[in-house]
Amino acid sequence: MVKWLLDLIFGKKTKKMLNIILFGPPGSGKGTQASLLKDKFNLIHISTGDLFRYEIGNKTTLGREAKSFMDNGELVPDRITIGMLQNKMDKHLDSNGFILDGFPRTINQSEALDKIFQERSISISGLVSLKVEENELVNRLLERGKTSGRTDDADEEIIRNRIKVYHDQTSPVYNYYDKLGLSCTIDGLGSIDDIFARLSDAFERLS
Ligand code: ADP
Repeated sequence: MVKWLLDLIFGKKTKKMLNIILFGPPGSGKGTQASLLKDKFNLIHISTGDLFRYEIGNKTTLGREAKSFMDNGELVPDRITIGMLQNKMDKHLDSNGFILDGFPRTINQSEALDKIFQERSISISGLVSLKVEENELVNRLLERGKTSGRTDDADEEIIRNRIKVYHDQTSPVYNYYDKLGLSCTIDGLGSIDDIFARLSDAFERLS
């Protein structure tokens, strides 16, 4: 707040937005919580997974390219993902801010996000990570697979691969923002309401 006011007084054009990365492994509840948080804080929820599923549903070239990676629980290549995210963000630069759900998922994506933000004179408010242990994640995803129709939720081997990809490629993203003093961790076990209350506190602190 103080920094923003100083920037405003001294003429640096930074827009005051609340831009939060909602972080955590597959099945940690990011999507459920993001849709509650976006209403409470009046933010734009961007889920890269949802964007890909939309493209697949519409049988676009991008969707066709992404599908094979998603079905195997692998990451979609950055050259596809980063451009898609940027297009979506650019449609909402006049909003109060973004909840990024599922992005960034690699250090390269974090660096790309820094550049996107810098070019638009906006900044990351923080990264909020949901912590849930692995067996609970697998159970939740198998349960979701009974109704979600998502091929990547239907098979335990693919689910375990998604969690492995998270540990190998995505978890360093937490440290990337932690070094800047921007990361915090929230207990992701409990009722949806309890977790929402914890996350809301974290979002308030970042506002
Ligand atoms: P979950 O977090 O439960 O795995 P998502 O809907 O966020 O579900 O992601 C589903 C799939 O979409 C991922 O396994 C991956 O293949 C792809 N995906 C989503 N976001 C990204 C990203 N930022 N980079 C690369 N691939 C992504």
